[in-house]
Amino acid sequence: MTICFPARALLAALLAFVAAAPARAAPAAERTVVVTAAALIDGVAATSRANVAVVIRGGRIVAVRDRDAPDLPADAERIDLGNATLLPGLIDTHTHLFLQGEVPAEGGYDVQLLKQPLAFRAARAVVAARRALEQGFTTLRDVETEGAGYGDVGIKQAIDGGYIPGPRLFVVTRAISTTGGYPLEGYAPEIEVPKGAQLIDGPVEARKAARQQLDHGADWIKVYMTHRSWLDAAGNLVSQPTLTVEELRAIVDETHGWGRKVACHAYGGIGLQRALDGGCDSIEHGLDLTDAQVAQMLRQGTWYVPTLAVYYSDWDPADTPDGQRDRKRASAHEVSFRKALKAGVKIAFGTDMGGMPWSEPIAQEFPHEVALGMTAMQAIQSATSRAAELLGMEGKIGVVREGAYADLVAVQGDPLADVARLADVAFVMQAGKVFKNTLGATH
Ligand SMILES: [Zn+2]
Repeated sequence: MTICFPARALLAALLAFVAAAPARAAPAAERTVVVTAAALIDGVAATSRANVAVVIRGGRIVAVRDRDAPDLPADAERIDLGNATLLPGLIDTHTHLFLQGEVPAEGGYDVQLLKQPLAFRAARAVVAARRALEQGFTTLRDVETEGAGYGDVGIKQAIDGGYIPGPRLFVVTRAISTTGGYPLEGYAPEIEVPKGAQLIDGPVEARKAARQQLDHGADWIKVYMTHRSWLDAAGNLVSQPTLTVEELRAIVDETHGWGRKVACHAYGGIGLQRALDGGCDSIEHGLDLTDAQVAQMLRQGTWYVPTLAVYYSDWDPADTPDGQRDRKRASAHEVSFRKALKAGVKIAFGTDMGGMPWSEPIAQEFPHEVALGMTAMQAIQSATSRAAELLGMEGKIGVVREGAYADLVAVQGDPLADVARLADVAFVMQAGKVFKNTLGATH
């Protein structure tokens, strides 16, 4: 490439400016910021700590001290959050930024794939990302775009580039299922309709799909191991299995070779068993876990990402087959959650946001976790240090300790006494930059 004259002149001028520029103040990211609050839940410790000062520089936490420590940096910018409780930025490990609920009155799932231009869906994904950040969720694992291709990679690039606000994203792109294993469905066979996931048949196609998705930016691979659910004659929840163990193993083998992991949507039964036998790293939803499957998850170190709240919304009438199915999904999930928690299965916070509208509060999941046996601290850790561990980010996010990214949130009151406080996040800092502050004084 030849540089044309005006560009060359500009370059020369720039170089001269850089050479002549006096030493300037450190850029904002390098300035030292001290955030003080009445309490800290650091994401790892078993108890909270009173009266803290978190010292931040270069987007990272450099120290956690007492609020009145005599040697806090004097020239730092101070953000005093008063009597609020400080926590690590929250992490939701199961979201769909490109899905806007499945409300039948708004056309349900199908209309989003059939009638909405991709730019419209991307615009709404931008709003969803912003909403997540406003609620204190500074990291999401977004588990597939539902027919919007590699749109999540683009949203992630826009966030990372600073063009739009949003959480750190771990994206899976298109997700994988089999022929007959994902919507859109129910159209005349003569009409080709888009599908909400990449459909494969056989281990060769399975591996190829994983390669394509990884090549185009997938941080994780998402696989649908069950499809739909209904009640059998005895009233048991059943689901259609999709991939074979051989197909799944090809995906897991390929993905692990890239140093990445595989998340498996699995409700129960044969499909969930294949998910475990094929080596999935996380079971998504896991509505109906048997004792033997819980034991296998413990043995294999498999993560469990339950999504409780979403199964309490939009129930069909009780006297219909779908209504009975809806109620059984919630009740079976409760039993499985308690069982997994008691056995010590690793549990990370997930919601299926997008499966329900983004206008819903993400934090509504916390009280469900607590109602089913978690302590408030365990629930908080499921969305902080445990979720970070699932993402291979332990020590970097989900914790307020030296060396971690300065992703911080604060709420009024004590979320250990009332976990519902987490639905009202008043302060959000992401990598040292304040995104939202409705309570603190800065000086
Ligand atoms: Zn989902």
